[in-house]
Amino acid sequence: MKILVINAGSSSLKYQLIDMEQKLVMAKGLCERIGIDGSRLKHTPAGKDTVVIDSAMPTHADAITLVIDALVSPEHGVIASMDEIGAVGHRVVHGGESFSESVVIDEKVKAGIRECIDLAPLHNPANLIGIEACEKVMPGVPQVAVFDTAFHQTMPAQAYLYGLPYEYYQTYKVRRYGFHGTSHKYVSQRAAEMLGKPLSELRIITCHLGNGSSVAAIDHGKVVDTSMGLTPLAGVIMGTRCGDIDPAIVTFMMEKEGLDPKAMDNVMNKQSGVLGISGISSDFRDLLAAADEGNERAKTALDMFFYTVKKFVGSYAAVMGGVDAIVFTAGVGENNAPCRAAVTSTLGYMGVAIDPELNQQRGGDRDISAPDAKVRTLVIPTDEEMMIALDTQRLTSK
Ligand code: ADP
Repeated sequence: MKILVINAGSSSLKYQLIDMEQKLVMAKGLCERIGIDGSRLKHTPAGKDTVVIDSAMPTHADAITLVIDALVSPEHGVIASMDEIGAVGHRVVHGGESFSESVVIDEKVKAGIRECIDLAPLHNPANLIGIEACEKVMPGVPQVAVFDTAFHQTMPAQAYLYGLPYEYYQTYKVRRYGFHGTSHKYVSQRAAEMLGKPLSELRIITCHLGNGSSVAAIDHGKVVDTSMGLTPLAGVIMGTRCGDIDPAIVTFMMEKEGLDPKAMDNVMNKQSGVLGISGISSDFRDLLAAADEGNERAKTALDMFFYTVKKFVGSYAAVMGGVDAIVFTAGVGENNAPCRAAVTSTLGYMGVAIDPELNQQRGGDRDISAPDAKVRTLVIPTDEEMMIALDTQRLTSK
């Protein structure tokens, strides 16, 4: 079975065609500037150079049509006809409380995704447009929605409620949802495979550290807490997002600077985080380079990042009564050895110890623990597309 995985944004659409028998990506690519002048498709067949196709894409349906054309093209295609695509898996950002797992898409599911637009006003409309574009271009091909929030739906009320009037939760659904769920799910399953034990017997802390970062506590296979909240702004300090702050700062700064809600939201999402602290960059490679050259603010920004991640790891070990494995994933977690060293540095009392040489090595899934460590520290490159494809296969081949 071949599955097309789609991640639709408001003016972009990423895709991967995955051969599920061989668990191989056959081709992947990106449509940019959909509905805007200068739109183009960057298509990369496995093992070949990227081809750039400049073509008008007034709508997402036009973009999907171009993707299919590229996939079946005699020059840079990877399949003979569209009929080879057995199913489509869509990344959907917000499933609210309605979706605790992936689902086959029908009218009711689309209505459910529409109901969550309030909670993800930028993402869910684009995800719906992507779904409807596929329905139009590939009628009859089953489609599955995989939600970023779904894996975290197992959290108990003590973890997902905020200390606000209960009516805010009842009326507006204000609660912790958490994000990156597909990634936390994928790496926790891989961790269980690597440790040779079922997920249901393990306590795992997964650290998805990239531009956006989140940490999750997965207790015997179920998420019991995660660092992101109602929105992806909460938790650890991130590239440009502030993470957890004293909520009173919001009104204090709005008054001081005369900011309206939208402007304040923009400050916290786009001008804060390690960018706001360093004044240099949101990119961790730039910060490491600047810190190496002696830039104090870059060093402080990195220290703050490592420190907040460590605080979540420590608190999640506390709520689970211990931890069997800590997993690092995403751009920073997979590639940044100093980050892993700093986050684990004072956790020896919990039985966490990494091998400095193994920590420096690069590559795929790896165990970087010291031989005598009671807690395993793993680095697992995330693969959200494969997780989406696996769920899509499972739900459509029933
Ligand atoms: P996103 O949240 O956009 O998916 P990624 O998971 O791709 O983000 O992570 C992007 C971050 O990973 C960037 O800040 C980048 O600097 C960092 N990163 C990527 N490669 C390295 C590396 N070799 N060393 C340190 N940081 C890296």
